[in-house]
Amino acid sequence: MSSLYVVATPIGNLKDITLRALETLEEVGFIICEDTRITSRLLKHYDIRKELVSFNARTEEKKIDYVLNRIRYGETAALVSDAGTPCISDPGVRLVNSARKNEINVVGIPGANASILALSIAGLPTDSFVFEGFLPQKKGRQKKLKELAQEPRTIVLYESVYRIKKLLSELNEYMPDRKIAVARELTKKFEECYTGTPLDLSERIGDNLKGEFVVIISTVREK
Ligand code: SAM
Repeated sequence: MSSLYVVATPIGNLKDITLRALETLEEVGFIICEDTRITSRLLKHYDIRKELVSFNARTEEKKIDYVLNRIRYGETAALVSDAGTPCISDPGVRLVNSARKNEINVVGIPGANASILALSIAGLPTDSFVFEGFLPQKKGRQKKLKELAQEPRTIVLYESVYRIKKLLSELNEYMPDRKIAVARELTKKFEECYTGTPLDLSERIGDNLKGEFVVIISTVREK
């Protein structure tokens, strides 16, 4: 049956990929990916040779018909992103949505996701959490932070190296008493995860920052 497989790939350590994901990447007709260079590296590591169709937030709309037509005519395809689970702060949602509207079989192959991994090692409450991904970079950022300060559940944010320092100082302004965790470079050589107040963590992390970050803000009851 022609299908679209949504396949999670590693978030750093190339060994973090399931046997089923590798089997799927080996068996599909073609792979839809963000950056062909990044996906090629993964495929080369596992000795998989496959046609790659590049697909990102800018080209998503244009490529949907092309990809779905090929699947409709009997091919199978895998959607991957540069890292982790596709469609989670990554492109693909419109493709999956259109596939479903066109009654194409969509199959998920689970695997790495930075937010769930960070929650699992932070030791902060996980019974109820809200995933906010990246905060707006400029317009709407302060409004969002004010809203989040009222959010009673644990909050999960993604942040880039360019704004992590700024985010910690904003959290110190908007929610200075909430315990937070900063998980950096998960599954990679310089992996670390610290917990404390926003002020503790800005001091601890300092200016010498590199890599990718997940920030977890604990529920209001955790001190
Ligand atoms: N789809 C991915 C997932 O399943 O987690 C997320 C992609 S999003 C474009 C990239 C962001 O995820 C990074 O800026 C960072 O916030 C977080 N991230 C991805 N890999 C990470 C890692 N190894 N360590 C910490 N955070 C990571």
